[in-house]
Amino acid sequence: MNIRYPFLNLATVNEPYIGEIRDAVARVIDSGRYIGSNENKEFEKELATMIGTSNAIGVGNGLDALRLIIRGYIELGRLHRGDEVIVPANSFVASALAVTECGLDVRFADVDPDTANIDWARLPLDSRTRAVMPVHLYGRVCPVPDTLPDGMIVIEDNAQAIGASLNGRMTGAIGHAAGMSFYPTKNVGALGDAGAVTTCDDELAHTVRMLGNYGADTPYHNIYAGINSRLDPIQAAILRAKLPHMAAENATRRRNAEVYLTEIDNPLIITPRVPDSPENHVWHQFVVRIADGRRDAFRRHMAAHGVETAVHYPTPIHRQPCYAATCRHTSLPVAEQLADQVVSLPVSRCTSPADAAEIAGIANLFRG
Ligand SMILES: *Cc1c(COP(=O)(O)O)cnc(C)c1O
Repeated sequence: MNIRYPFLNLATVNEPYIGEIRDAVARVIDSGRYIGSNENKEFEKELATMIGTSNAIGVGNGLDALRLIIRGYIELGRLHRGDEVIVPANSFVASALAVTECGLDVRFADVDPDTANIDWARLPLDSRTRAVMPVHLYGRVCPVPDTLPDGMIVIEDNAQAIGASLNGRMTGAIGHAAGMSFYPTKNVGALGDAGAVTTCDDELAHTVRMLGNYGADTPYHNIYAGINSRLDPIQAAILRAKLPHMAAENATRRRNAEVYLTEIDNPLIITPRVPDSPENHVWHQFVVRIADGRRDAFRRHMAAHGVETAVHYPTPIHRQPCYAATCRHTSLPVAEQLADQVVSLPVSRCTSPADAAEIAGIANLFRG
């Protein structure tokens, strides 16, 4: 089938910046510093300033960012084996892997059907809950209520929402610490793997930095049995080129989302709830729901008209084979229903507003 409206093409995404990206890569090649370069320091400064935290630490990828935060809390004695961390069941699996990989227990929460984010009203708190990981899924801010029990640690999974904000506060600066991903498909994407931790907790930042560099405070002096998860300076330099364009990229996504929200007018398609304020959403994905088991028919209809779609995510995390055994008795009806209903429409810069209007028109022709 002829694809007229691709879901995402990374060459197209990077095309406007290719000159700056080549210059950035050349700078690193010429510098002769291929680990721990000045590019990393400058990138971390620029990222921290943008997010509004006193620290940003570049790491290998988004999963490492989250696991280094949790490992950091363990080393600081603020989290312990047997503690539970609440993670929404509707997310990418990395959110949960970060918890279980560190030897803590994950407890899955159901989500709100309108926002797809954690449903705070039904948080499965118990006596072992020490931390919660709100995921700003699809690019929508997941606001953290101030009614959480005292001492609860809030770790944001900010892989999908760079640039979103709530009352002037950026995601990545809402909780106690946040993990971000610069995986190539994210709103700000590297040309390979890359991630970062942002936090205003200087002690945690120092610990995370050591843990990601073999647990060393100074060369050949290892405080912790750490790991190697350093940000590649080539990726740091590329990200320095791309970060200043983040707002424009997010504006492009908002413009496409706006077209979908006004043009899609088909009772079989449930469009996402409009954010309270445009700043609350950076539309990493534009996700609609198709009820009554007709999602696959909808995807076939779109494909027949040349529209590529995707599903984020087809299986809730508690039903993944790696967690299914421990979650046999876990029932999270909203997350389970979303997994059967969600479809993502193209929303990146690969889609023009005219394309989005065409795609909406095609969606409106779906009859089930
Ligand atoms: C992409 C993503 C991650 C992991 O990022 P990587 O850089 O691929 O390790 C974690 N959580 C969510 C919600 C993501 O979308």
